[in-house]
Amino acid sequence: MRYNILGSSSKGNLIVVEDILLLDCGVSYRKLKPYLSKVKLIFISHEHSDHLNKKTIKQIVYNYPTIKFVTGSSGVAKELALQKANYKNVYILDWGKTYDLGAIKVKLDYLYHDVENYALHWEYKGKKGLYAVDTCRIDQIEAKNYDLYLIEANYKEELLEYHKQNCTDDNELFYLNRVDSTHLSWEKANDFLINNMGDNSEYQYIHQSNYNFKNEEKEN
Ligand SMILES: [Zn+2]
Ligand SMILES: [Zn+2]
Repeated sequence: MRYNILGSSSKGNLIVVEDILLLDCGVSYRKLKPYLSKVKLIFISHEHSDHLNKKTIKQIVYNYPTIKFVTGSSGVAKELALQKANYKNVYILDWGKTYDLGAIKVKLDYLYHDVENYALHWEYKGKKGLYAVDTCRIDQIEAKNYDLYLIEANYKEELLEYHKQNCTDDNELFYLNRVDSTHLSWEKANDFLINNMGDNSEYQYIHQSNYNFKNEEKEN
């Protein structure tokens, strides 16, 4: 399955799938614009600004009024209304049910974050995908033998622990202590992939922290 990552971190998230589906909308309008003429559906997982860029949404609604939005989050729905999205183009779905939206079928699954957040299962031209970010657990989801898994692998458990032990700044420690209750570790992502992938499945780790995954210097 074709996909193009325009952003995947706490600085901004947006993945274009098969030209027609956007997974989250957390990058600038300028960056996204070249892709928009073919887009039919935008899934927004939750209301955090790295997944929902208000200015970008406003421009999309104004310039591409037929694009549809899908979410399970009431916070996202509220923000879409504030940015003047036509309510007829906003689908607020119940999680656990499959919806046929024409060319594409979708199902939401519940995620564990500090605001209401959902994973997206989709099926397009007979191929299945799963997108799950910003969750401290994923073992509640079943997605056997999918073609593509786009799964958060935010931090390595040992590296996060090391950074916590060696942290001397209280604000920094507050942030580090929050990570394992709001984001998915590489280890948990791998357990999930091993349990669900089939012989022809592909996967991509997303929403990685350069600091807690790759041990790169913090930028701020
Ligand atoms: Zn995020
Ligand atoms: Zn978030």
